[in-house]
Amino acid sequence: MQDFPLTITTIMRFGTEIYGGSEVVTWTGDGTRRRSYAELGERAARLAGALRRLGVDGDQRVATFMWNNAEHLEAYLAIPSMGAVLHTLNLRLFPDQLVYIANHAEDRVVIVDGSLIGLLAPVLPKMTTVRHVIVVGDGDTAPLAEAGKELHSYEQLLAAEPASFDWPEIDERSAAAMCYTSGTTGNPKGVVYSHRSAYLHSMATSTGNSLAMSAADRVLPVVPMFHANAWGLPYAAMMAGASLVMPDRHLQAEPLVRLIEAERPTIAGAVPTIWADVLRYVKEHGADLSSLRLVPCGGSAVPEALMRGFDEIGVRIVQAWGMTETSPVATMAHPPVGAEGEDAWRHRVTQGRILAGLEVRIVGDGDVVLPDDGEAVGEVEIRGPWITGSYYLDEDPARFHDGWLRTGDVGTLSSDGYLVLTDRAKDVIKSGGEWISSVDLENHLMAHPDIVEAAVVGVPDDRWQERPLASVVVREGAAVTAEQLREFLTGRIPKWQLPERWSFIEAVPKTSVGKFSKVTLRKMYHDGDLD
Ligand code: ADP
Repeated sequence: MQDFPLTITTIMRFGTEIYGGSEVVTWTGDGTRRRSYAELGERAARLAGALRRLGVDGDQRVATFMWNNAEHLEAYLAIPSMGAVLHTLNLRLFPDQLVYIANHAEDRVVIVDGSLIGLLAPVLPKMTTVRHVIVVGDGDTAPLAEAGKELHSYEQLLAAEPASFDWPEIDERSAAAMCYTSGTTGNPKGVVYSHRSAYLHSMATSTGNSLAMSAADRVLPVVPMFHANAWGLPYAAMMAGASLVMPDRHLQAEPLVRLIEAERPTIAGAVPTIWADVLRYVKEHGADLSSLRLVPCGGSAVPEALMRGFDEIGVRIVQAWGMTETSPVATMAHPPVGAEGEDAWRHRVTQGRILAGLEVRIVGDGDVVLPDDGEAVGEVEIRGPWITGSYYLDEDPARFHDGWLRTGDVGTLSSDGYLVLTDRAKDVIKSGGEWISSVDLENHLMAHPDIVEAAVVGVPDDRWQERPLASVVVREGAAVTAEQLREFLTGRIPKWQLPERWSFIEAVPKTSVGKFSKVTLRKMYHDGDLD
């Protein structure tokens, strides 16, 4: 067979030429901006021309500081296809982390959305390798001026370039994009995706056992394009010729629901906290989400109550698991063919079934590989062509084991490839020598009709070393006591696991990508800020 490289350039050519009539729609809050894939191809060529003219060469890094929109998609196509490396900056990171990441990656250029100038301006002077800042859309650029970088207007740059570009031939193993993990402890770590890994990940996530994506789909990535490449949805959509619907900065439940009603996406991906808000909104105000045929959801455990709630409004949530290091999608929780009722649910609440191309194993103490019997609990290890083999300029041998990535997740694997996570290794609660699954407790608590959010962390205990502390958010207007919640849990979980420490809070603190921040909760407890 021919040794034809698997590159993002190929995905871009295919999407913008063969499916040139498909479109990317960007939500403005009260309307849309629309661009066909054919136009997108021309604009990506102009952007590549402009970046070349600014001196971007070789595998230099070009950062984006942007929402999910058409321009970000142009950067997704142009930067890797010209041979450079797309570095998506998470705009919710702390300033120090942003500076660390941009300097560590040695970003040369930052493309920033006009609405985010205020966030970038204070950190820009410390981004020492950045020479050029390209501003998309309107926005007062004055705050950027002091940083001593060259400022450009995105549209002016594009207007000055031809609508075609001499795309170079690229080795499929060369770097295409990079993403830093949010780094709950220590400095963030960079994961570099190759053209090949992005291509194979796009194919794998489009198969029938995953999203079964086709040109008939309209795909809404709510998950940010700076969070593990929006789970690979943009590239997969281009490859399938599926149109993209982009929420831009409008990420609250109400505008999202209006966007779904107006643009009728068929697939929409977001973390559970977003869908929980959407469900509450829909229950209160009513809405038509019937266009959605599949809602991939992950990033943290998806509460069963959330999935059942969506089932009631006719929308199917399918849990997925993965991490920045795994591109990110590694499993999807479709039930086996023929499974009905509770049998189907038993599979739907797992983290999912392994996608073709990947291998997963469970490893116990002393690095012993445990049986895939759905019972043996240990650390999850994974390998495959879209799993990182190292971190960027950061030796961390402890995270790798004989060619497998140690995920830091703890759980079981069944012989037919369903993964169940009980915890992250660092969140495991060890009480009197036994493990308590925080994920399990949270799942049960969030099934209580008056509980909006629940997060459980281990706190020191004189007698048991550690005990669970449950922090819960009660639905507005409802009243529920710790004793009632303990009663609710009785029978659902073993008695010795029932938390005796409770704290009623207004909201569970979230990480930069919208997950429950257990680090913050532990710190709050330590500082006496939780009861
Ligand atoms: P960070 O590690 O900074 O949170 P990632 O977004 O890469 O960044 O997070 C990956 C982690 O998220 C996984 O290792 C796992 O602990 C958690 N996770 C992802 N999907 C799920 C899921 N469906 N259920 C439980 N945990 C999940």
